[in-house]
Amino acid sequence: MGCNPELVSAFLDGELDRVIVGSVTQHLLECEECCRTINKLAAVKGGLSERFVLCQPEDLTHSVMSAISNERIGPPSGGMMAFLKNIGFP
Ligand SMILES: [Zn+2]
Repeated sequence: MGCNPELVSAFLDGELDRVIVGSVTQHLLECEECCRTINKLAAVKGGLSERFVLCQPEDLTHSVMSAISNERIGPPSGGMMAFLKNIGFP
């Protein structure tokens, strides 16, 4: 699915159908923009709804952030070099 701020807002409010919640969550994990949107909305709403139980905001943010940094920065510094050394690459 594409970006849909209204769905993100409804997601935050716990107003989404179970079926849609899955797709929205998946999208949130992949989309930096919608992650920002949900964080902004959460701040505006003064916290997450009690019905927002599918994933904890910290977990979601963490997952998204690590996905983003992996994509932008690549392997952690030394990670790839250590890996290459381990397999005997000069
Ligand atoms: Zn999006």
